[in-house]
Amino acid sequence: MSQTVRICAAAILSLVVLATPGATAPTFDVRYDVLLVAGDGIARVTITLDGEGLPNWLRFRIDPRRHLGFTGDGDTEMEKGLLVWRVPKSGGKLRYDVRIDHDRSGPGKDAAVTDGWAMLRGEDLVPAMTVATDAHVESKATLTMHVPEDWSIVVPWKRLEGDTFEIEQSHRFVDRPTGWILAGKLGVTREKVAGVHIAIANPSGHGLHRLDILALLRWTLDDLVEVFPEHPERFAIVGAADPMWRGGLSGPDSTYLHTDRPLIQSDGTSPILHEMVHSFMHAKAGKDGDWIVEGIAEYYALALLRRSRTISKRRYERSLEKLAAKGEAVDDLLVPRAGAAVSARGAVILAELDAKIRKATRDEKSLDDVARVLQKERTPVTTQRFREIAQDVSGLKLRKFFEQKLGR
Ligand SMILES: [Zn+2]
Repeated sequence: MSQTVRICAAAILSLVVLATPGATAPTFDVRYDVLLVAGDGIARVTITLDGEGLPNWLRFRIDPRRHLGFTGDGDTEMEKGLLVWRVPKSGGKLRYDVRIDHDRSGPGKDAAVTDGWAMLRGEDLVPAMTVATDAHVESKATLTMHVPEDWSIVVPWKRLEGDTFEIEQSHRFVDRPTGWILAGKLGVTREKVAGVHIAIANPSGHGLHRLDILALLRWTLDDLVEVFPEHPERFAIVGAADPMWRGGLSGPDSTYLHTDRPLIQSDGTSPILHEMVHSFMHAKAGKDGDWIVEGIAEYYALALLRRSRTISKRRYERSLEKLAAKGEAVDDLLVPRAGAAVSARGAVILAELDAKIRKATRDEKSLDDVARVLQKERTPVTTQRFREIAQDVSGLKLRKFFEQKLGR
């Protein structure tokens, strides 16, 4: 067995560890225990490592204002802004607190805790980490939530028993909990739609229109799954009123939506479908690719309504005209973060690209095939890579189309 130390950026790299046939790979367990202490506004996290082939160290990219009071077996110290935990050979525990409340730019919070409920993301509980371990080692992770007895929990993970969940991420070496978490006294609606176990939840009394959301998904999820066939087994939609942020935020296998947001806006696009497209596609933007990632979400947030006949062809076309008007003043699409106007312009360009691909391939191919490749690659999307994929899918030369649309 190779003794090379592999430094695996758990948050960045895709790594598949192939076991030698007949040999069992050394396996260690990662156990996350999360105690929500609502009155203090904190979550008390313990990470326990146990088993064979343990990592020598874990390095966490912490937020020092939120992640506090690290103590652990072995050594813990700060190095260049990172928290390094040197793990004892026999395993051990790392303990710390997470301050749950977090303000987002613009009014509202993207994580909050009250006496009756807590809403946050797995990413808040366990910061992104890099791990030093042998390449042939495997790991298994679980997370147990410790909450008051009369609280329920909605997460995008598989429940094993009680409040213990399996954390499984095939693209990560050490599985880390990600996605939206809602715990408390909740209203919850669950149903299997298009092969996906959907849970829609809000704190009691917050008035999320759960059945309206469910109805919209019964019309549109089939088409979303057709675009992205590698869909999650389960998906959590959580919503709340103030003090939570007044928008929508996608996460892995989950989405947050403020209760004030309409399911379909006056321009014909759907905020919840926009966020769900992000979640299903997994794509992150590279240096000049945010117009594509946001444009795809905005385009499908409209196209899925058309495909499901939720809106008429005429209304769909009118919506594209509205998006074109909204994006008209944009003079540069290749910005690091796409705002509403860039997303709108992106959606219109992608609708044109879709029509072009369909025409060239006699409806054999479409933007769906391009989006599917982006989903599979899981690498940051750049304009150049996107053009290459679109060219491969369509057999067209698209340099001129892109130059003309991007104005360069
Ligand atoms: Zn978006």
